[in-house]
Amino acid sequence: MIGAVSVRALRDHLGETYGLTYLDPRDAAAGLGLRVVSDALHAATAFVQRTFGVVIPMPDLDTVSLTLGPLVPLSEASVATLEDEVETIVHEAQHGAQQQDGGTLQATVDYLLSPELRARAEADAYAAGLFARYLVTGIPVTEDEAAARLTSGPYHLAPPEVDFARRIVRSHVATINAGLCPPISAAIEAYAFLRRTDPAAIVVEIR
Ligand SMILES: [Zn+2]
Repeated sequence: MIGAVSVRALRDHLGETYGLTYLDPRDAAAGLGLRVVSDALHAATAFVQRTFGVVIPMPDLDTVSLTLGPLVPLSEASVATLEDEVETIVHEAQHGAQQQDGGTLQATVDYLLSPELRARAEADAYAAGLFARYLVTGIPVTEDEAAARLTSGPYHLAPPEVDFARRIVRSHVATINAGLCPPISAAIEAYAFLRRTDPAAIVVEIR
């Protein structure tokens, strides 16, 4: 069972590893950061619309968490329980890893413009988050549960993208249910950190 102190330590570690600042809705300063993110998101979507003629709906930052550059505003819902928080911070950490791989601007443009890259990015992020939740709850991950998350994100994936993402998720879920850590950066990082700092938080056997 994981405690609040461990979740906070994991969050700090992932933030440091992937160059992210998580904005906690329970902190007074988060409102200001949220405003910055909201403005940046408006600017990014307007840029894409102007340059490429693609209209992107603005997600509602009160209900969704997303990674845009280094700031990760967490929604109230995403931190409702410690297990929810673990899943969310690892999911967003994976987006941080993707930004480190491709550069923030490239990752953002890819994310906004390429449904296929977006599907791949989300599939990996959801699988990483679900793996982390599994580590601390022991409740097996199902493909349907993972697929349900793919259709409820801030940028809705169209049916062919969901199919594509679902195939990636299926392979990650099979890996997790075989008792292995999926080959996703944030999943590996979160697992290694918990094992090192709070092994009692991990309630399942990982080979
Ligand atoms: Zn995501």
